[in-house]
Amino acid sequence: MSQRKAWRAAIVHCIADPKDVGVENAYEYFADGLLIVDGDKISAIGHAKDLLPSLSTDTLVEHHPDGVITPGFIDTHIHYPQTDMIGSYGEQLLTWLNTYTFPEEGKFHDKTHARDVADRFLQELLRNGTTTALVFGTVHKVSVEAFFEASEVHNLRMICGKVMMDRNAPDFLTDTPETSYQESKELIDTWHNKGRLHYAITPRFAPTSSDEQLKLAGKLLNEYDDVYMHTHLSENKDECAWVQDLFPASKNYLDVYDQHKLLSERSVFAHGIHLCDSEYHRLHETGSAIAFCPTSNLFIGSGLFKLSKAEEHKINVGMGTDVGGGTSFSMLQTLNEAYKVIQLQNENLSPIKSLYLATLGGAKALRLDDKIGNLAVGTEADFVILDKKATPLLSSRLALSKGIEESLFVFMTLGDDRAIKATYSAGQCVHQR
Ligand SMILES: [Zn+2]
Repeated sequence: MSQRKAWRAAIVHCIADPKDVGVENAYEYFADGLLIVDGDKISAIGHAKDLLPSLSTDTLVEHHPDGVITPGFIDTHIHYPQTDMIGSYGEQLLTWLNTYTFPEEGKFHDKTHARDVADRFLQELLRNGTTTALVFGTVHKVSVEAFFEASEVHNLRMICGKVMMDRNAPDFLTDTPETSYQESKELIDTWHNKGRLHYAITPRFAPTSSDEQLKLAGKLLNEYDDVYMHTHLSENKDECAWVQDLFPASKNYLDVYDQHKLLSERSVFAHGIHLCDSEYHRLHETGSAIAFCPTSNLFIGSGLFKLSKAEEHKINVGMGTDVGGGTSFSMLQTLNEAYKVIQLQNENLSPIKSLYLATLGGAKALRLDDKIGNLAVGTEADFVILDKKATPLLSSRLALSKGIEESLFVFMTLGDDRAIKATYSAGQCVHQR
């Protein structure tokens, strides 16, 4: 039986950062395109009229005249255990953690509960067209096992890690430097690079780890070539002041992680809102990335991410939903809020730059751009089909749009899970509306 299949629709994907090459050179667009997939990889992309004659007559071609194919979205910061506490009212970061987050995360000592939430979390990502995410577990080892087992079912490229947290949190959620090191190591040895899965060493944030724990996290990162490090950085002003109190010897917030050897090409820091120039500089120097989480930054009242500063310093940036601090699993809605965050700083976020951040930019931040992030030949067939007729308003508004850039912008403004007609991971359909 042939493993070859093709999809015919409009196709758009990024091939470079618009900042480096200009918007018009940063993407490819085929108004009537064809995407050919052999097994789990993309084997051709181009105009339908050029590629259709090359197909043998028995190749199945799915035609979506109202569809727009894009790469699968990449979420570079999200907490799966916070799925059921999305939309929690009225607090900023530190009280929000104590009031809502910690009690919820306490439930994940129970693997049955963890697996139930992991399954629903993944369904929600796929319904929204997100095919890869960098994901927080809880302090419990079983939370990460449940997540990886659930991800394996759909053959998803996912990254997750056990939270390391040994102070300033309730007893039922703390580990010790030694147990956090040992359990993380066991999870790495079992799950890292198994199929499409990867592990991230995951200290929650500086205030909930002792010096000794951060030191062991750095040791662990150094013991493996290609594991990730995932944490929070400079989200909220009270948090920043607290970090300075807790680590008086540090020059700034980032320096706490730097002193513990946690900056690397596979280190991803969520938020990075209140940074000084030397922190931007050090992030660039070490190849570390930032996850920009606009719905969360607005919802928890944290502040406005300075994308132009990150660009100036050539720091890799990806988009994060940061559910449950974030308010939507939808990358389209996340880009909607990103646009507004940038507008409030008197700058513009172009639709192609937005697409870049949600796909290829995220893949670069995660050092996975040889595998995912666009639809280049030889990459893994993770893609979504957007539906121009998903809602009456999308349908009428898109009928008036003058080109793909405007259409993308309308999808990012009006679209959400309803706009995702189908989601594919490694060539297999993992969601269909
Ligand atoms: Zn977060």
